[in-house]
Amino acid sequence: MAAAPFNPFAMAQSQYDRAAELLGLDAATREFLRDPMREIVFSIPLRLDDGSVRVHKGFRVQHNDARGPGKGGLRFHPLSTIDVVRALAMWMTWKTAVVDIPLGGSAGAVVVDPHNLSAAELERVCRGFMRFAARDLGPDVDVPEPDLMASPQQMLWMLDEYEAIHRRRAPGALTGKPVGFGGSLGRREATGFGTVICVREALKEIGLATRNALASVQGFGNVGQHAVRLFDELGVKVIAVAALDARGRSPLTFRKESGVKADELAAATDGFGGIDRQEAERLGYEVLPGDSWLAQDVDVLVPAALENQITAENVGAVQPRVRVVAEGANGPTRPEAEQALAARGVLVIPDLLAGAGGVTCSYFEQVQSNMNYFWERDEVLGKLDVKMTAAYIAVSDTARKRKLSMRDAAYVIAVSRVAGACKARGWL
Ligand code: NAD
Repeated sequence: MAAAPFNPFAMAQSQYDRAAELLGLDAATREFLRDPMREIVFSIPLRLDDGSVRVHKGFRVQHNDARGPGKGGLRFHPLSTIDVVRALAMWMTWKTAVVDIPLGGSAGAVVVDPHNLSAAELERVCRGFMRFAARDLGPDVDVPEPDLMASPQQMLWMLDEYEAIHRRRAPGALTGKPVGFGGSLGRREATGFGTVICVREALKEIGLATRNALASVQGFGNVGQHAVRLFDELGVKVIAVAALDARGRSPLTFRKESGVKADELAAATDGFGGIDRQEAERLGYEVLPGDSWLAQDVDVLVPAALENQITAENVGAVQPRVRVVAEGANGPTRPEAEQALAARGVLVIPDLLAGAGGVTCSYFEQVQSNMNYFWERDEVLGKLDVKMTAAYIAVSDTARKRKLSMRDAAYVIAVSRVAGACKARGWL
């Protein structure tokens, strides 16, 4: 019998169910938090440069806002579905709660491949999305931030459309904007840096010095590039990076025994994190199949590309040397693969925690935008380090005390905070 297709929302719900069980949540709370509070589906007509019109689906899902206004990514990806967006929104509710920032969880997507659009078409699709979404978004309602294939420029076009519709400046309505247009220094680096801060803390616990550690990273976009950069600064040698080729079609692994340098490889990378094979070879990278990143003889693996990447079928390729898997991406590890990793003593730092640096810095960006007063980069990244380290220690303590995996511990902390907020408001 063929395996059922991967459904990230079913995975998110079953992870949540475990936490609800561990916390002994009452039936009404269990049911309420299991589904989003609100879902919006749009059809966005896009006029192409040749004058023809194509219609793209768009989604915004607002899972829960008991702890504060909704917050969450917006991706431009051809494989987006309502269930992917539901999962991302639910995970965001838990992420904001784990790092204890006063926001809820949302997510959105436009079903489109930006590789196939001109800049003018991409601008029109961004404005088209906002034309439909603007009435349900806002600094006090729900604030989008960039996710897959979304750039600061796209966020600025959407902000401009939002402000035109609402007839006022509202820089806190979106985050991930360009610096100088309400963007925060440090936001680009924040998710990847947050992942690496978690790895730093894990290596301390394990007793492995960063200068002796090797890593392999999947994804060289917003998250992956900056993870490689901070690994390098901390003395962790990244020997392999996987990404799509420059046309965004096939995944490849780019390996360099002497260590990947983020700036060097970024020179061969397009705006969507795709790497030009010939250019990388010219820079001395060995080009291997896309799944080779997982089979590297390293201490740390960082999936920072997509969901559903480490599965029952490929987990056997993970080498015995691996001690830590840090999920920069959302939902990259299937539960069966996680069990296999746990049985081998591998520490999996879950997406709720390892991928929370971006939303934490987006929160800082919102605060700065609302005040119209912007902090220096070191101040932003210093505050990020404080938040991420505190969250890591809290999750690790809970895991140890309650004999839970890091994922279950992160869920227990997050779900109890959100359930507590719903109760305190008198909703349940
Ligand atoms: P991005 O579009 O900037 O980069 C994605 C990278 O993954 C690119 O290098 C791309 O080539 C690569 N990739 C895509 N499909 C691949 C495949 N099949 N095999 C190998 N590589 C592949 O996206 P991003 O913003 O870096 O997001 C990456 C992941 O991190 C996603 O799961 C996203 O939801 C999550 N995330 C992003 C942020 C953020 O701040 N951007 C925050 C939290 C979580």
